[in-house]
Amino acid sequence: VPELPEVETVVRTLQPSVEGRTIRYAEFHSPHVTPGDRAALASSLTGRRIENLVRYGKYLLFQLDYGYWLVHLGMTGKLLVGAPRTPHTHAWIELDDRVLVYDDVRQFGHMEWAAELPPRLRKLGPDPLEIDADSFARRLRARRSRLKPLLLNQAFLRGLGNIYVDEALFQARLHPLRVANRVPRRQAGELHQAIQELLALAIRYKGSSISDYVDAAGERGSFQELHQVYGREGAPCPRCGTLIRRMVVTQRGTHYCPRCQPRR
Ligand SMILES: [Zn+2]
Repeated sequence: VPELPEVETVVRTLQPSVEGRTIRYAEFHSPHVTPGDRAALASSLTGRRIENLVRYGKYLLFQLDYGYWLVHLGMTGKLLVGAPRTPHTHAWIELDDRVLVYDDVRQFGHMEWAAELPPRLRKLGPDPLEIDADSFARRLRARRSRLKPLLLNQAFLRGLGNIYVDEALFQARLHPLRVANRVPRRQAGELHQAIQELLALAIRYKGSSISDYVDAAGERGSFQELHQVYGREGAPCPRCGTLIRRMVVTQRGTHYCPRCQPRR
């Protein structure tokens, strides 16, 4: 599932191919990825110039000369430059001199055109790479939720998902079920730092390719090789050797070291 570092990587690899170019032709085929009137979506995009492309949480936000084209990759979505059509191609977008191909095996992705930034995007929390330590600590203090579901909540911070939350909590030695407003200020600072360092490092490794995530050039990331706890249930903790455990928290598999991350 693409999270912040993976979406950031797709954005960076796409930018040189899309910015400043005009959409000449578009077609959409999936009633799941593009619910509603697909011909209307195609005509809203056709003729529009892509001014720039940015990441907004886990969304790709194409800022057009009129309106926005929003893309969410869901579980298995891939946005590729110049790739061939496959049975999983659900969007085909021709720019001046190249084609953008959207492939999505499971079709949990989503795309739409909007004249304005939709309210559900404006309601998302701050970007974890932009928030400063004091604001982060203040936001934690205001919540009585447990850390794992809180950090996954896109209204709290936009862009984190299961992998990087588990890894950040391990780095900061915080148990996933600790209550946010009882985390001491010093540890809130460590969690903030862990999140930012982890995301920056993961972006440098072009993200984590657990299943089929690839960037816009079709290349896999390699940060999965540096995971300390995620997907390592039963393996020794890299810090203390205790076996990594997995539990389910609000339906999400959660990996942690019972010794380094005491419940207290
Ligand atoms: Zn440990």
